[in-house]
Parts: sequence; structure tokens; C-alpha cells
Amino acid sequence: MGKSLLATLHSLHILVVEDSEDDTQLLLRHLRSSDYEVTAERVETREEMLNALAHQSWDIVFADYTLPHFSGLEAIRLIRGHDPDVPIILISGTIGEERAIEVIKAGAQDYLLKGNIKRLLSAVARELEEAALRREHRKSQERIKFLAYYDQLTGLPNRAYFLEQVAAMLTTEDPAHQHITVLTAELSEYHEINATLGYTAGDALLCRAGERLQQLLPSTALLAILGSGRYAMALAPSNLDYAHLVADKLHSSFNEPFDIADFRVNTGIYLGAAQYPDHGQDAQLLLRRAEAVLKLAHGHATGYAAYSAERDSCKPENIALATDLRNALGTEQLRLYFQPKVDFKTGRLAGVEALVRWEHPQQGLITPDRFVVLAEKSGLIIPLTQWVLDAAVKQHLAWAVHELNLPIAANLSVRNLLDRKLMDQLYALILEHNLPPGALEAEVTESALMEYPQHAIKTLNALRDMGVQIYIDDFGTGYSSLAYLKRLPIDGVKIDKSFVSDVTTNPDSATIVRSTIELAHNLGLQVVAEGVEEQSSFDCLAALGCDKAQGYYISRPLSAQDFELWHSRFISTGRLARHSPEEG
Ligand code: C2E
Ligand code: CA
Ligand code: CA
Repeated sequence: MGKSLLATLHSLHILVVEDSEDDTQLLLRHLRSSDYEVTAERVETREEMLNALAHQSWDIVFADYTLPHFSGLEAIRLIRGHDPDVPIILISGTIGEERAIEVIKAGAQDYLLKGNIKRLLSAVARELEEAALRREHRKSQERIKFLAYYDQLTGLPNRAYFLEQVAAMLTTEDPAHQHITVLTAELSEYHEINATLGYTAGDALLCRAGERLQQLLPSTALLAILGSGRYAMALAPSNLDYAHLVADKLHSSFNEPFDIADFRVNTGIYLGAAQYPDHGQDAQLLLRRAEAVLKLAHGHATGYAAYSAERDSCKPENIALATDLRNALGTEQLRLYFQPKVDFKTGRLAGVEALVRWEHPQQGLITPDRFVVLAEKSGLIIPLTQWVLDAAVKQHLAWAVHELNLPIAANLSVRNLLDRKLMDQLYALILEHNLPPGALEAEVTESALMEYPQHAIKTLNALRDMGVQIYIDDFGTGYSSLAYLKRLPIDGVKIDKSFVSDVTTNPDSATIVRSTIELAHNLGLQVVAEGVEEQSSFDCLAALGCDKAQGYYISRPLSAQDFELWHSRFISTGRLARHSPEEG
């Protein structure tokens, strides 16, 4: 009786490296006597063999030890080099133990004696099974590697892979790796798109943006994705000038929108750079520094910033400064300065912004540009803000006694928005002193809001419930979209000083200022212009319908005492002094 039709025939595609056609036929007959449906090719020379390996995949390879044109041992090495998993069975005359070991070392799984191939079928079955296991194992290793080193969504390498590759570049002797730039990029609208269009759209944006970057980068560049709408790139060889050129190209390519599902999505991109060896000796540090400068890039028209040691909060001097700041908080070293805001329509004082100063015992007066970032990084921003709010409330009360009821605005950092305790303390302060609604204002940057939009909005609502008015600070530099503002519980925006300072000379700034005022008014929001330094810009803003002005043209930030002097002169002359006193 023949085999049942239902019995499965295992197809077997074999390569036979063998000069004898008779031996080959013998082998095939033996295999076919079992459940195998065999297809085979016999090759005799090195070239034939390599060709067969290159163009087909084989289930198993049989090789003769003694070949007329090249050695069986070489054949095994070549096959193994080509495919790490395919089973190789050597078929030979007696070769002795030593050679047998050599053969196995070269990568063969087994060897059978010619004329005695009784073991053939069991060897083939076993080797096929083991090869399948080896392949599966290798696949899962690769999968594990992929999971560990690649981003599942975009398929791009991740941070770990990026760092390993850059570290490897830094240790090679390759002259191309003597100068490497690490670039980082951040999509300006990523968080907003997630918040407004949903995560599917955000995910699609990450993929499309990654593709766009990949297309524009030089082919030797390494691109990775970092999360939160950020990417990292390594350019080698590259100096900062070259990196700047690349960054410009990438930046302007984001003028083109992305088509995502049914939406046409616009997003800008910010880029930061750090250069090996000047800005760091290892991959971690370079990436950290290139990420740190992204914040600065937000404020630049070119959307690009390179690392600079002076601004770095991780410098030893700055670490020492953070320690000093921790100590300063309990002492009298912090001061609150006040900068007036004037109402364009009435010409009256409309409030003050509280700006913190630090009288360092050795270094003298330090401006917040230097220590607020440090405070944010070290967590000291919580007690610092607490101090500012306390001092602001005290000052408000002190002035109120003299019939000067001035709203005081305090700046809040992103950490403050996540801090429930601070909100509770503020509420207690407001209740304790029975502060009327509007006595306190909060200034919050858009980037702070976008970092944790859900939490931030909750906090803003809580603040408003306490009667605190809310302004978006540095408006226009961050994730500027007035459409998004509509959904935020806010009272107004402060147009960033970079647009205000050249509103009379730069048509782009003028357009931004004009449209911000128009749209904000349509949404029922107040508009404050900060950084008003000259009469011409003051007049221009007044003509555009801006609500309030703040800046050196009116006055620099002043100590409480100097502010009182300024104020009495302001009241008595009824107008702005052309030359306001310097802050002292
Ligand atoms: P900001 O909130 O944008 O504050 C305005 C900054 O612009 C102030 O710098 C002010 O002195 C400066 N400024 C005012 N008028 C003009 C002008 O006409 N021209 C120019 N070029 N600049 C003007 P300052 O006081 O050095 O503060 C810098 C930043 O530090 C502030 O920027 C704010 O982000 C932060 N900051 C200040 N005090 C605090 C605080 O108590 N808490 C927090 N979290 N941040 C603060
Ligand atoms: Ca501010
Ligand atoms: Ca500002």
C-alpha cells in the first residue's frame, strides 16, 4: 500500500556540494525514501556554491570533504559565514578524529561516512528541528534587540541606540568622527496636536516628521526618536557651521504642512546642537546639552541654538550657585522688584509685575535669568515661588493701606502648576488677608502649559476660582496658536518683548503683534505688550489697540521704595517720564 494521501510530505530544498553525480543521486534516493519531497542542486566549484547561496535559501546543505576544486573545510566556512543557521552535514570517507573536530569547529553540525549513511534520516530530522529552534531563538533575540533599541511607532532607533552608536563613533579612530555634532529637534505643535486632534494624529505626525527629517539629512547621519515630540541626530563629520546649515534646512522644511488623516497640520521645529569635542566628551553629555538648548531655540527666529558653556546650569559654578540659593531662601537675600504696567486708553497705572532679584553676598545682584532655571532644575522653585507670593501679597497690603490698590502679577513655572500644596497655600493666603479678586495675577508661559496640559488647566481653573487673573507670558515664542488659547481659562496674553521691540521696524513683528491683538480681542482677552522701550513702539501699540504696556519706556523694574518714588512722580506729572530711573 502506498503512503496515505493525507500524510504530509515535507518539502526539502537541499544544496549538495559534491563532485560525484552518483553519490548525489544516492543521497537523494535515501531522502526520498522517507517523507521528504526533495528538490536539490549540486554544485562543484566555489563560484557555483556562492552563487547558489546568494540566490536561494536552503533547508540543509550537504558537503563532501574532498572536492577537486576547493576544500570541504573552506566550503563549510563559506556557508556558515553566509547563513548562521542552515544545517550543514558533511559526507566523507574516513577523515579521522582530528579532522572531524576541525569540521565541526568550522561550523558543520554533523558528518556521515560515505557508504554508511544509515544515520542520514535521523540526522536530517534532528538538524532541521535544531535549525528551526536556532532561527526562532535568533528571531526572538532580534525582536528583543528591536524592542530595546527601536521605537515601535516610528521604527526609528531610540535614545539607548543613539547613545550607543554615538559612543561607538567617539571611540573609533575614523577621521570622520573627530568632529561630531549632536542635533536635537522638537516639534513645536506636538503637544497641541495631541491635545486637540488626539493621540492618533500625534502619532502620525511623529512618523511623518521623522520621515521628513530622514529625507533631508545627509545619508551618513544617524536619526533617532526621543519621545515627547523630540528627535536626536548625529552628524559626522560636522562642525557647528555645518550643523547650523543642516538645522536651517530642516527648520525651513517644516514650513510645509503635514497631511494627517483629514487634517492639514502645521508644526514648526526647534533645533539644538552640541559639538564634540568642544561641548562634551561623551555621548550622554552631548545629547543632554543639545536637549538643554532646545529651550533657547524656542526664542530664536531661526529656531536654532547651539550649546554654550556660560548658560549651562550643570556647570560647577552653577551647581555651587544652586547650593547658595538653597541657603539664601531662609535669609534676606531675595528681593522683589516691581515693574509698572500702564493702561493705553486711560494712561493710568494698571498694575505691576513682581520680578525676583537675589542679592548674593559675594556676587552682588543676580538677575532671575541666571537663577530661575537653576531653581527649576533643583526643585527650589517651589519655596522660591512661595516666597515671591508671600512677598507680593505683603506688598499689595502695604500699598493698599495708602489707597494704592495695585494688582501684582507673579510668574509661575511649570513645576508650580503641578504643585497642589502651593495652590492650597496661596488660597489660604488669599483668605487670610481677604484679598479682593484681581489683586493677584499669574503669568504662565505657554510652554509650561503644554508640558502637562491636563494638570495645568486644572491649576488655572483653581487659580481663577480664587480670583487670580491669568496671563500667558512670552506669547508668540512658544506653541503659539490662538485657536488653542480659546480652550484655556485665561484672561489675557503678554506679547513677547522680541516682537514688541521691533514692532516699528520689522513688518513680520508688526503683523504678529497686530493679529495677536485682533484675535485676542475676539476671544475677549486682554493684551499686554512687554518690553516697550521707546515712544515710537508705545504709540504704535496704542494705535493697534493694545491694552497695557510694560517696559523700560515706562520704567525698569524697581525696588518697592524706588517704585513709590516713581509712582508719586508719575501721579504728579500725570505722564510718563522719558527717562525712567535705572533699577538700583
Ligand atoms: P519675564 O516674565 O518675561 O519678565 C520680563 C523681563 O523683561 C524682566 O527681566 C524685565 O526686567 C525685562 N524687561 C522689562 N522691560 C523691559 C524692556 O523694556 N526691555 C527689555 N529688554 N527687557 C525688559 P528679569 O526681571 O530679568 O526676569 C527675567 C525672567 O525671569 C522673567 O521674564 C521671568 O520669566 C523670570 N522671573 C522673574 N521673576 C520670577 C519669579 O518670581 N518666578 C519665576 N518663576 N520666574 C521669574
Ligand atoms: Ca512675566
Ligand atoms: Ca515675558
